[in-house]
Amino acid sequence: QEPLLQVSDLKKYFPIKGGVLGKQVGEVKAVDGLSFFVNKGETLGIVGESGCGKSTTGRLILRLLEPTEGKVLFNNQEVTTLSKSELRKLRREMQIIFQDPYASLNPRHTVEKILEEPLIVHGIGDKTERRRRVKEMLEVVGLSSYHAKRYPHQFSGGQRQRIGIAKALMTNPSLIIADEPVSALDVSIQSQVLNLMEDLQKEFGLTYIFIAHDLGVIRHISDRVGVMYLGRIIELADSEKLYTKPLHPYTNALLDAVPIPDPDYKKESTGISGEIPSPSNPPTGCAFHTRCGQCMDICKTTRPEFKEVEEGHYVACHLY
Ligand code: SF4
Ligand code: MG
Repeated sequence: QEPLLQVSDLKKYFPIKGGVLGKQVGEVKAVDGLSFFVNKGETLGIVGESGCGKSTTGRLILRLLEPTEGKVLFNNQEVTTLSKSELRKLRREMQIIFQDPYASLNPRHTVEKILEEPLIVHGIGDKTERRRRVKEMLEVVGLSSYHAKRYPHQFSGGQRQRIGIAKALMTNPSLIIADEPVSALDVSIQSQVLNLMEDLQKEFGLTYIFIAHDLGVIRHISDRVGVMYLGRIIELADSEKLYTKPLHPYTNALLDAVPIPDPDYKKESTGISGEIPSPSNPPTGCAFHTRCGQCMDICKTTRPEFKEVEEGHYVACHLY
């Protein structure tokens, strides 16, 4: 089976301007050599601390940002070289759900108008058909058609995220990129929205890239998980495997930092000390070497390759 999406060696460097002349004085390596694929119908979770480049990755795939380097292959189409009109067609197929639905829903528009907009942009249906689709999608996400005439502020946070999801589904896409879609919600509401997303995935055969910093949320929803550190995926494996048998010292440290409810559970902590280095001045060699308890000489000079060390288990670390 061909993957639905294939990302190879993707990079995004943002220039840092400084001085009175606004000359470029450096660059932020937000995404620095990412490679992964996503199969049709699966959920790939991408997890990492804030500032690791997760959101930039989502925007690069959708080409809401232009990559500095690298390839994004969607349905065998090279996204990074598409013309504007080709890109518009492709956008029907790839949609995004944001962390804060309130910021992405126009407060002066009714829900009906908000949901209709993607159809108008893509020239789908006449007015009657569009309105019918709006009502249908409101029900699909667990709201009612009578909500159509209301405004975003009349909804709770969870309901607003349901509207955000409905908006993403309006054009009947195959790939959804969800960027921290539940992190602004109460824990009790989080699982409702996650369950809804799982139901919708089955019903419509959706493929998800699910971006979050919360390891529990990622575990709940993902078939496979990639862990990001300073602009790179440093480990990727089946969800179960990654959480029970992580290989990379950073993944180990991340999982150790999560409180474990079992009092008999005692695991030697590999420890994660210090702050994340700045992506404008990343460490040489392995980007994690400044915080790694198992750092060797080679780690300081040579960047570890991201390679498959067991079937379907990829890791970028000189220990393997
Ligand atoms: Fe640690 Fe070296 Fe592996 Fe980096 S490559 S995670 S520094 S052991
Ligand atoms: Mg983010």
